[in-house]
Amino acid sequence: MKKALHPTVGCIAFYFYRHIVGLACTFFKDSLMKVIGKSTAERQACRKPCFHATINKGKCPVRGGIMMTEQAFMQKAIQMACENASSGHGTPYGALVVKDGHIIGSGVNEVTATNDPTAHAEILAIREACKHENSIKLEGCVIYASGEPCPMCLAAIYYTGIKTVYYGYSKEEAVPFGFNSGAIYEQIALPMEQRSVQMKKLENDQSEPNPFVIWEQTQGKLD
Ligand SMILES: [Zn+2]
Repeated sequence: MKKALHPTVGCIAFYFYRHIVGLACTFFKDSLMKVIGKSTAERQACRKPCFHATINKGKCPVRGGIMMTEQAFMQKAIQMACENASSGHGTPYGALVVKDGHIIGSGVNEVTATNDPTAHAEILAIREACKHENSIKLEGCVIYASGEPCPMCLAAIYYTGIKTVYYGYSKEEAVPFGFNSGAIYEQIALPMEQRSVQMKKLENDQSEPNPFVIWEQTQGKLD
């Protein structure tokens, strides 16, 4: 009769098998990305957070720093901002949407490149992430922005349900370079009648139905 493997030996064997295969796959994927010219930050972003990192708050004693840290994501966003500025493609802003340690959306400022005043880095990163998730919500995601988001991007972040924003440079630090989203924050905080953009209520003359009622009757509610 064949002798059964002792459970302890089986467990140890499985543990080593799991880690050897895991490390081999990581090494292969990393080497491949290196060959095709991916940057260190991009390679790090592709590595899955391992079990050890999960239980050790981001620090993996076995694989040593294999999990991309919050700082590494920020450096990636800043690097994108630098490249965007030096290439002349757009203003110095970059942003990443990250879920479970993986980048699911990225963007750089493309306002001047596309003549689109809404093409801010965070907006483009959110658009890509929403496409990736096939959802208008990004709950559980965090956003890394090289610069503190402007009111438009912050509003978009609220719409997605993202709860944490990491930003590199504050809006005050951007002012000497000609970027002043703080002025819009100040405007929004003012009573409507004191803002530089005049808001004039012009009501439906009833020749058209109330679109909200149409919505309610046909589509229901968003949430
Ligand atoms: Zn913005």
